[in-house]
Amino acid sequence: MKVIVIGGGWSGCAAALQAVKQGADVTLIERTDMLLGTGLVGGIYRNNGRWTAAEELIAMGGGEMFEVMDQEALHAGIEFPGHKHSSLYNVATIEPAVTKVLADAGIRIELAQRITEVELEGRRIRSVSTHKNHGDRKFEGDVFIETTGTADLPQACNKYGNGCAMCILRCHTFGARISIAAKCGVEEMIGKKGDQVGAMSGSCKLLKESLAPHLREELDRTGVCVVPVPGKEGGGDGAKLAVKACQQYALPEFEQNVVLLDTGHAKLMSPFYPLAELRRIPGFEHARFEDPYAGGIGNSIRYLGMSPRDNFLQVEGVDNLFCGGEKAGLLVGHTEAVVTGVLAGDNAVRWLRGEPLLEIPTSLSIGDAIDHVREQMKSEKGRGYKYTFSGSVYFDRMKERGLYLYDVDAIRQRVAAAGLTNVFDWRPGVVRSSHAAA
Ligand SMILES: Cc1cc2nc3c(=O)[nH]c(=O)nc-3n(C[C@H](O)[C@H](O)[C@H](O)COP(=O)(O)OP(=O)(O)OC[C@H]3O[C@@H](n4cnc5c(N)ncnc54)[C@H](O)[C@@H]3O)c2cc1C
Repeated sequence: MKVIVIGGGWSGCAAALQAVKQGADVTLIERTDMLLGTGLVGGIYRNNGRWTAAEELIAMGGGEMFEVMDQEALHAGIEFPGHKHSSLYNVATIEPAVTKVLADAGIRIELAQRITEVELEGRRIRSVSTHKNHGDRKFEGDVFIETTGTADLPQACNKYGNGCAMCILRCHTFGARISIAAKCGVEEMIGKKGDQVGAMSGSCKLLKESLAPHLREELDRTGVCVVPVPGKEGGGDGAKLAVKACQQYALPEFEQNVVLLDTGHAKLMSPFYPLAELRRIPGFEHARFEDPYAGGIGNSIRYLGMSPRDNFLQVEGVDNLFCGGEKAGLLVGHTEAVVTGVLAGDNAVRWLRGEPLLEIPTSLSIGDAIDHVREQMKSEKGRGYKYTFSGSVYFDRMKERGLYLYDVDAIRQRVAAAGLTNVFDWRPGVVRSSHAAA
């Protein structure tokens, strides 16, 4: 059972681990020289409904990625405007920790291999290969999982954003993201709201050392620093909030204040912040961007290529292709990438074995989000939103439907009632449940 995972962000890592847990021979291919993709510059998890989703996945036996995040967390149980019980992992230490878990599990990790070609046989992929990268390489597999995220060519950041911000995706060095589904002829979807095509990544990072000592001390001690912006007491014009990918942070507090979170560096909760303006704020006189390098001007544009898929995360039109993370819809976040990655990895192996595929029921937040986002992607209005367990429209839905739970026992009971306790903790000989048959 050869499983090929393309894209080593949180979703690809989670998918690869779930597939290897089921006894598959797994290769994880990543175009850059590090795993975790945009997870290298994130760090926030367990905030608001992400707590529920993480605990649901743990109760289902698929929580290894959250174990690593918890192990590498700098702060847990913190609050910042609009967000409760958040944890922050250290962006500087998380990647080697994840790599070790995957390598120890026996996953073959292929770095600096950008897949550009797909060989099809009817409705099935036979192999994927690199081209003019570091020598041509061909990877043959029985089933493929695409977790390549939703960025695009650097030109997209010029066209729909404020230019290349020199972000962690490093397109100019490693080559731009290539969509496997699109290479198979699948018509992909793009996020669009009004004139804005795609969405701009919602946070940037400052070097902690460039901040005034009192800000650094507060950040290290509490994990959060909320600094009022002189003259913005009444709010701003909302322009920067509107363009954000992370609509859960599109609250007036994020314009009236500079909100910093300690993820190893000082995560600034704004897509970008003009440096001269920032340096006028007391404590920020020497501020310097750590990520993206041009964080005073702009940030990366994402949500430019999502796959049509069903609730098993099987891509429509290609029999042996599954998807996870941002590829699976307008899903924002590490938690969202991990939960869909685990399901994609699990279903890819179920499909190989000829077992019924697993659909997570809508009585759980994970199942509801997967189903709801698939529905929303059908309409232009729905494609104008982003969906996350942590805020904005989807967290509202969670609360309305009683899906948001903070009590771990109650979450476990709900998972048990769905018949899915330890469903992802597969061992040979164990008969596994599936909510719905493919
Ligand atoms: C600046 C920033 C800050 C963020 N902060 C947070 C946060 O604090 N908390 C949070 O929950 N979310 C945050 N997010 C969002 C979150 O990081 C993403 O939604 C989530 O991690 C996406 O994971 P993914 O695996 O779907 O995709 P990605 O992280 O985009 O990973 C895709 C991977 O696929 C690789 N790839 C692409 N094409 C190919 C190819 N052809 N061949 C091989 N490899 C390929 C890419 O190099 C990349 O590593 C942030 C995002 C950004 C950009």
